[in-house]
Amino acid sequence: MKKLLNGILDFRKTKRAEYADLFSSLSEIQTPDTLLIACSDSRVVPNLFASTDPGDMFVLRNVGNIVPEYGTFRGSVGAAVEFAVNQLKVQDVIICGHSNCGAVAAIMNDVKFEGDLAAWLGIGAEMKLIEPPKGEWSKLDLASQANTLLQIRRLANYPAVKDAIKNRGLRLHAWWFNISKAEVLRYDETQSKFIVLDEEEIPRVMAMLE
Ligand SMILES: [Zn+2]
Repeated sequence: MKKLLNGILDFRKTKRAEYADLFSSLSEIQTPDTLLIACSDSRVVPNLFASTDPGDMFVLRNVGNIVPEYGTFRGSVGAAVEFAVNQLKVQDVIICGHSNCGAVAAIMNDVKFEGDLAAWLGIGAEMKLIEPPKGEWSKLDLASQANTLLQIRRLANYPAVKDAIKNRGLRLHAWWFNISKAEVLRYDETQSKFIVLDEEEIPRVMAMLE
């Protein structure tokens, strides 16, 4: 906590003036074009790895970046999806899993928890039935990648998402953050595997977005 407080002091001293105009323009309205659903894991820092500014992304984070099957678990996930898609009219939704995910490990290893954590991870158990993508990764990381793909499939069944895909071309993307290398990967359907978003790949993805 002390680090956070010192960080606020540092922000006030070195960055606040630089961001003054941006925050002023955002004070009444937000118009992010992307919804990002990521794990709560402290090592996954989308604003850092994607160099985003305030106002760029609407973000939902939870344990294991899990999206419940539509209608089975009413709450925060559905609310965030509906708000981002129907109200903010985001153009892209990204689900971002990551390496060495504790939630994925707990599900894969049948770790017994109690209470809400047990109920929540139970929603993710279907991950064990999913064929993992290709790639030279540990069993756990392949399961985490499969988990990300499962959540994309579930998200595509949300009525708000289905309608927006059909009516205005909403796009869904599976991303995965490799912590040890601080690299972001995207799932490529034609290769059935996650590939690094690097200097070669990003222009290709940009072209697909045109
Ligand atoms: Zn995680």
